[in-house]
Amino acid sequence: APRIGVLALQGAVAEHADLLHGLGAQVVPVRRPDQLASLSGLVIPGGESTAIARLAHPQGLLPAVRRRMDEGMPVLGTCAGLILLSETVVPEAGLAGLDTIGGLHVRTRRNAYGRQRDSFEAEVSVSLPDPGGSSPGPRPMRAAFIRAPLIEQVGEGAEVIATHGGRPVAVRQGRVLAASFHPELTGDDRLHRELVRIASSPEALAASPEAALQAP
Ligand code: GLN
Repeated sequence: APRIGVLALQGAVAEHADLLHGLGAQVVPVRRPDQLASLSGLVIPGGESTAIARLAHPQGLLPAVRRRMDEGMPVLGTCAGLILLSETVVPEAGLAGLDTIGGLHVRTRRNAYGRQRDSFEAEVSVSLPDPGGSSPGPRPMRAAFIRAPLIEQVGEGAEVIATHGGRPVAVRQGRVLAASFHPELTGDDRLHRELVRIASSPEALAASPEAALQAP
């Protein structure tokens, strides 16, 4: 079984671990840089990006994740995880001066869905390979948006794999997957399934020559 880490500093850790267990992965809660070496994939959960970055900072954990990502480790980030993976986060007080992960060519804006809709569930349209097959979606997925970030701009090498109301809500860049919503809360395991597939299959890697993430 592939060893998949879940960054376990703050946020929705247990829900991701449950989904990954259900997919047959060996799950490792990650709190230190030295735990990254043995992983074949990593989930960065939702929560509060500022809190995660602050807790990770003393050990340089997020830059260590970035080094593994640049070496080709597959990563799935949800909500706060997407924010931490974003190459550009629209500047505001919260993350200023903290290391994040970066590398995913998107610009995100934190808490951008507005106060009246801080949290909502919606059906989004997701394009991913079918379980056991190869033809990509799009298929509906129930998604929970909780003080969700908005993907404002999608840059080179990043591909939109899910939309809601015409806006991108999930992207893929080589071996990196990220969503502005929480798939783990509505129990849809397709994004996790794709992470496990990429993490387990050398063929899947060979199939995407652009897979190795370029440092900008
Ligand atoms: N608003 C949070 C942040 O800025 C993200 C919310 C979430 O992960 N559900 O980090």
